[in-house]
Amino acid sequence: MKTDSLKWIDDRCLTVPEKGPQDKSLADYAKIVGEQKIEELLKLGEELKGVKVQQVNSARLGGGVAEMLHSVIPLENTLGPDVSWEVITGLPEFFAYTKTIHNFLQGKIGVPDLVGTKIYWDTNKENFQLINQNADIVLIHDPQPAGLIKFLDPETRKRQKWLWRCHIQLSPKDLIVTEFLRSLIESYDAAIFSSPKFLPSWKIPMTLILPYIDPLSEKNKELSEQEIRAVLDKYGIANIDKKPLIALVSRFDPFKGHSLALEAFKRVRKNIPCQLLLIGGTASDDPENQIIFEQLSVKARKLQDVHLLNLPPDSHAEINAFQRAAAIILQPSIKEGFGLTVSEGMWKEKPVIGGNAGGIPAQIVDGYNGFLITPGPEGAAEMADRITYLLQNPAVAREMGKRGKETVKERFLITRGLYDELLLFKNILFPAC
Ligand code: UDP
Repeated sequence: MKTDSLKWIDDRCLTVPEKGPQDKSLADYAKIVGEQKIEELLKLGEELKGVKVQQVNSARLGGGVAEMLHSVIPLENTLGPDVSWEVITGLPEFFAYTKTIHNFLQGKIGVPDLVGTKIYWDTNKENFQLINQNADIVLIHDPQPAGLIKFLDPETRKRQKWLWRCHIQLSPKDLIVTEFLRSLIESYDAAIFSSPKFLPSWKIPMTLILPYIDPLSEKNKELSEQEIRAVLDKYGIANIDKKPLIALVSRFDPFKGHSLALEAFKRVRKNIPCQLLLIGGTASDDPENQIIFEQLSVKARKLQDVHLLNLPPDSHAEINAFQRAAAIILQPSIKEGFGLTVSEGMWKEKPVIGGNAGGIPAQIVDGYNGFLITPGPEGAAEMADRITYLLQNPAVAREMGKRGKETVKERFLITRGLYDELLLFKNILFPAC
């Protein structure tokens, strides 16, 4: 029987703006994280009733930011504040430029091609009409729309709070790119980062919010054996009992470590039957996908038991099934803002082998709920050793997977991220309370 408060929570169904209610409610979250956490959220949400928040990023689908926004915005709206979501648009040249900036901010070495600077500002200017002048808080994600703030009139700037959230591993070596971002972000009211390891020494209040996954989304909800099997059959992946599946889900991006995974797999497969699945997809703000996919296709063609899939960005149910079918999940990133795919794998009770970079060590405790490997080419041999160990010790792999799920339940579910975000809204608007 439901307690009174669970019933009350049950009445608060989640509504997706312009789409009608979702097939889940706050009560469904309460069953996972406990009623108390939901009641705390309801209380905080109540305090933010009537507050208008606008979130802005550069892709409706594809990548971790879109993944989180799809889940968090309906929840925020259910709890109290009035939250909208806008996505900036731009020409391919704009996204080519912002990907260059992204790569250099993550530590790419060389001379950045900054020819697109003008198109960056022109595109931000054109997109400025998306900004709701009545919003109390504008939350901008990543560098692509960060320039919007520059087009704000001084009067509106006085009444609106502008927050910038960084989802990348900020470790730039290039001074021009660093200065570009620093001077821009210092005009915000606060900046939010995903790891204490890459807080810059900028003159702006900074806060940490670790990212999160939604246990009830298409990507992460429970699936039946038949549903998983149907996806494997559709993509011609067979025999996973005899040849365990090792999966890497990531945008085809230079920092995600796909080639390292191939290298490690080649070593393991010499001695143990197994198969490797590399799944990626397009994000509209990432122009590198196709090039890297084609490079990988050439390498993979020569190898047996490698499946390379370039899926549409809304293939959440398929990815869920593949992650659940896998014996081991890889995320050998060389740089990583956070790496939602790590938590996604852990939530599905899989041992995850991840690069010791960015936000990954916040999720994986080496040897406890997965393994950390050296980011970069030296990590390939380590990854091969860890895969071999896990395939030869399935009981250990199962135990690590269980611990991984507990870790995610404790620290990386959306209810915690939502609380952190609402608290930040409250603190930024009502600092004395
Ligand atoms: N993802 C997806 N399709 C793909 C590749 C990735 O849906 O082909 C999802 C993945 O499941 C995860 C998100 O995109 O939810 C990636 O987030 P992460 O933080 O790992 O990396 P990002 O792409 O943001 O750098």
